[in-house]
Amino acid sequence: MAQRYRAAILSAEAVPFAKVGGLGDVIGALSRAVADLGCSVAVFLPRYADLQIPPDCELELVAKVDVPVGGEDQTGMIYRLRNPAHPPHYHHFFIGNETYFGRPGIYTDPATGEPFRDNDARFAFFSRACLEAMRATAFVPDVIHANDHQTALVPAYLRTLYAEDAFFQMTASILSIHNLGYQGVYPREAMKTAGFPERFFYPLSPFEFWGKMNFLKAGIQFADRLTTVSERYAEEIQSGEEFGFGLQGVLNARRADLTGILNGIDVNIWNPRTDRAIAARFDADSLDNKGTCKSALLDEVGLPGKPDQPLIGMISRLVEQKGFDLIEAAAPRLLELPARWIVLGSGDARYESFLRATAARYKNRFVFRSGYDEPLAHRIEAGADFFLMPSRYEPSGLNQMMSMRYGTIPVVRETGGLADTVTPFGPGERATGTGILFGPYSAEALLGAVGDAVSLYGEPAALLRARRNGMALDFSWASAARKYVQLYRQANSARRMGSGFNRWLENVERGVEPGPSQPARGWEPPGYP
Ligand code: ADP
Repeated sequence: MAQRYRAAILSAEAVPFAKVGGLGDVIGALSRAVADLGCSVAVFLPRYADLQIPPDCELELVAKVDVPVGGEDQTGMIYRLRNPAHPPHYHHFFIGNETYFGRPGIYTDPATGEPFRDNDARFAFFSRACLEAMRATAFVPDVIHANDHQTALVPAYLRTLYAEDAFFQMTASILSIHNLGYQGVYPREAMKTAGFPERFFYPLSPFEFWGKMNFLKAGIQFADRLTTVSERYAEEIQSGEEFGFGLQGVLNARRADLTGILNGIDVNIWNPRTDRAIAARFDADSLDNKGTCKSALLDEVGLPGKPDQPLIGMISRLVEQKGFDLIEAAAPRLLELPARWIVLGSGDARYESFLRATAARYKNRFVFRSGYDEPLAHRIEAGADFFLMPSRYEPSGLNQMMSMRYGTIPVVRETGGLADTVTPFGPGERATGTGILFGPYSAEALLGAVGDAVSLYGEPAALLRARRNGMALDFSWASAARKYVQLYRQANSARRMGSGFNRWLENVERGVEPGPSQPARGWEPPGYP
């Protein structure tokens, strides 16, 4: 039998082991979907102190590797997951190190809510340890798929410190950007921490960003192919500062290599027919049971009485990106509408206190649950009539897809993946429309959209139509996984053809000022043929 194509997928999160937001969902489901296409897949994750290991699984220590961090060797303990339920070509490796991962929390200290001060060292260590782990376990990857800034140094390592390494000679790299708002920007000393020589750092070098080191920029410069999580977001991030956060130029220069692939959702976990977290299971033909879920949810969160009003749900990280400043601005008028609200989330103290105050003031119609609560998230998806996502930007967004699957109508701002997944439901669009969209990032536009939702609730036939339209859509990962595998192969071709970065490295090694950093393809440093 021909050897399977081998993909190493590197991430700081993956369900069910560790999740902060959408990245965890995406890597958990995508990696399995790629394995289901026949590839041999190895997922690499840090072994966090609060890692969730499912029952019937265990971790086995398979190797120890030395990883230089700031010039000193640190030990990476390589664990392999034994999961009897997984096919034999679907692997998980965890990198352990007491100093970096022997504490609670993934990116931030749960005690303070602040990012760990050594995140540069933690994720530089993890990135390089993944490469060493592949060697130690003899997993020779055809492609390494890095995700977000935490693993974005891997493409850079491959084309610099590991450029001559025979083990990775055939290995192509892909970087997926799940949210450009997070780039991993650190003081320039992080170059040394990550093990890169000083001479790689000069104005406009692949590593440099306004005098600091930028992990994501390095990945964007060195990866053979780039992806992001929706087509609309792929356009937006090249278009200007608003979405590009300073990397729009770098992305625009690599636009030929940048593809938007819309995320899917795990349709086994998010399935109203089988979901054990909800009060009653349902599908498009048994939406009465969705009513049971709504009543149970209202009871659970203590919203009294039974006025027949729409229930609007939100589940979100409480950060500016998600539009909470708009909700704050519109709150007094929003809360006049005949609707009730349940918001689940955790994050910035500013929004926590706003939501707490709103809940205290509008006791009979607004509930805020602070914290991270997966089962409650399922019950909100099942019990709410509408799901609100007024995001300033949204690379893909998952909750609007989960909502549609549960017959819950999304009310979203028309940006990124929200624009790519929700079609407007209005007069003339009743056959296909699935939700309510608004354009301008303004309190007025938000109010208008929520007002439309309340009106739609008053038209039972139209409401049912919109619910069913959404429930009929396919958000499974299979088609996205095929696109990724296609791209992996393209990255291998690009790798075989060689890239401008081989020359970039040669020039830096010779002490020649290579000039401003440019994309891999077709670029010659000034003064060189
Ligand atoms: P992001 O990755 O920006 O947070 P996404 O919509 O892509 O946004 O994914 C968010 C994921 O995290 C969804 O699965 C959502 O249900 C989940 N989530 C966010 N906050 C909470 C919370 N407080 N409790 C439970 N699940 C949450």
